[in-house]
Amino acid sequence: MGIASGLPTGFNPSAYDAIVVGAGYAGAVCARTLAEASSYRVAVLEKRNHIAGNAYDYEDEAGILIHKYGPHIYHTTDERVHQFLSRFTDFTDYQHKVLANIHGTLMPVPFNHQSLKLAFGEEKGEHLYQKLVQAFGENRRVPILELRDRNDPELAEVADYVYENVFLHYTMKQWDKTPDQIDPAVMGRVPVFVGDDDRYFPQVPHQGMPDKGYTDLFNNMLDHDLIQVFVDVDARDILDLSNQSVYVCGQPYGGEIIYTGALDELFGMDLGALPYRTLDMQFETLDQDQFQPVGTVNYTVSEDFTRITEFKNMTGQVVPGKTTIMREYSKAYEPGSGQTPYYVINEPENIQLYEKYRERVAHIINFHVVGRLAEYRYYDMDGVVASALALSEEIISQR
Ligand code: FAD
Ligand code: UDP
Repeated sequence: MGIASGLPTGFNPSAYDAIVVGAGYAGAVCARTLAEASSYRVAVLEKRNHIAGNAYDYEDEAGILIHKYGPHIYHTTDERVHQFLSRFTDFTDYQHKVLANIHGTLMPVPFNHQSLKLAFGEEKGEHLYQKLVQAFGENRRVPILELRDRNDPELAEVADYVYENVFLHYTMKQWDKTPDQIDPAVMGRVPVFVGDDDRYFPQVPHQGMPDKGYTDLFNNMLDHDLIQVFVDVDARDILDLSNQSVYVCGQPYGGEIIYTGALDELFGMDLGALPYRTLDMQFETLDQDQFQPVGTVNYTVSEDFTRITEFKNMTGQVVPGKTTIMREYSKAYEPGSGQTPYYVINEPENIQLYEKYRERVAHIINFHVVGRLAEYRYYDMDGVVASALALSEEIISQR
């Protein structure tokens, strides 16, 4: 592999069997799989000045490994994804833990056995926990919206407490909507956990951090003789979809295009802009060893930001006397403003608009869309890897 900045003069698209737009998980997994399994010559075009998409990490001025686009914690139940990624990195055994700051008391999230006792006192908390066990069984994930539906006064007391103190204000900050107004699957990502597991991803078998970081993982994945990466290249400058055909640099292109960017951007948003939430991330380096006891503290009843992440607590990096933290402020994404479209907003009218863009490319047989932006889906890293592996297989089998 080589990583070049910009396209060379005389760049010849037909020297490549596939052109991949975007060097995040979706693009890198497809590039690697196509190069390896089918000897495709692959060009990866990335508009940022680095690889790894939103998983990109680097050392800041204090020498602390930080995640530029928000805290990324690897977790998966998908054996195939885990095997695939494990070829390019070892994972540490970091188990992500999150505490909610509720009026100054730090309680585990997902709200669990211990949280109940912290919120309601030892005796009452234990009693309420036994009620939850009776209602749902032990070691069960219960979505808050399901808990709220139960017609039992004591369960209602738990549901009201958790709804008000864990979900309502955080969700208002993150989405500018109440939990009932957003896609239930989003709330379901963080359940109430009837059990003692205090990890953010309870019962998930594979979790950790790439031992040398995410960018290193991507360097290894893209390190293949048949892959060439070009950063600082916006594919829209050379890509044109007209008459149900693909043109690259003005010439008809017969290879495969794998597109992992936003679909509306490809068409100048002529049907309207797809809505997203974006984040302002405020990094701060402090002259102390440690700021908070866990990787992330969620501010669920106070503050304008949603959460504070302390990177050293996640990576295990030892840097005496310094630590870098990051606060996340969520807001509506303004198309064309240079902001990053971080979170899709999964609502029927947005999906309808997305489908209209998707229809435009559906019949172009050598044009494929994959990834969090291109599929307009709230994917975690493992979901994107699974989707990219499936697409690569499909392309290879159809060749
Ligand atoms: P991206 O990573 O966005 O990559 C797409 C790439 O395409 C980008 O680099 C972009 O610059 C490039 N691109 C777009 N348009 C063009 C163009 N026209 N020309 C050239 N290049 C282009 N997942 C987890 O599993 N665990 C977590 O803890 C976690 N935390 C997250 C925290 C935050 C704040 C966010 C926003 C996401 C988090 N995720 C997490 C999700 C994870 O980031 C995504 O699932 C994953 O990075 C998506 O990969 P992708 O390749 O689809 O998209
Ligand atoms: N959520 C909440 N309180 C919390 C944690 C999560 O209200 O303490 C809600 C919020 O709406 C959030 C969603 O659950 O957007 C999903 O949380 P997750 O941590 O999975 O979001 P991400 O890490 O993707 O930002």
